Formats: sequence, structure tokens, C-alpha cells
Amino acid sequence: HVRVPRFTCTNDACGRRIFHASLGCADDGSKLTHRATRWILQRLAVDRMSVSATAKALGVGWQLVNKIAVQACCNLVYDSGDHLADVRIL
Ligand SMILES: [Zn+2]
Repeated sequence: HVRVPRFTCTNDACGRRIFHASLGCADDGSKLTHRATRWILQRLAVDRMSVSATAKALGVGWQLVNKIAVQACCNLVYDSGDHLADVRIL
């Protein structure tokens, strides 16, 4: 569990009132770090653990693990435009 500093903007012209400091190890607004995301993908892909078993081992909810895993897989596939260029059948 990590607490990051919260700042309040006093500029009336600014549309954002409250913002958090960024961490290098996690995306802004993310509930898990990049390392935890990689660990989840390894458990699901390498160890063939279920989403519920992975969530229980990590101490977080099923929906969070599922969301993180789907998002990480989408990033792996779609961040590189030619990643699946030669794939014809899935
Ligand atoms: Zn501001």
C-alpha cells in the first residue's frame, strides 16, 4: 500500500482542483504497479492460474485482476502495429 501526495490547485483558471503526484512504477490512477501487473500476467499465462486464484494470492478483487490483465494484453497486442501482421488465424 502506497500513499502519494495530493495537491490542490488554487488557480481559478485551471480546470483541475486536486491531483496526485505521479509514481514511476505505476500509471496515474492505477491501483496496481507495473510489477504487480507483470506478476499477474505471469501467473495467468505461465502458471495457468485462474483469475480468481491470482486475485486471492495478490489480495485484490477478481474484477481488478481481470481488468488489469485484459488491459495489459491489449497494450501488448496493439502498442506495436505489426505485432500480429503475419497472424491469419487465432
Ligand atoms: Zn491547476
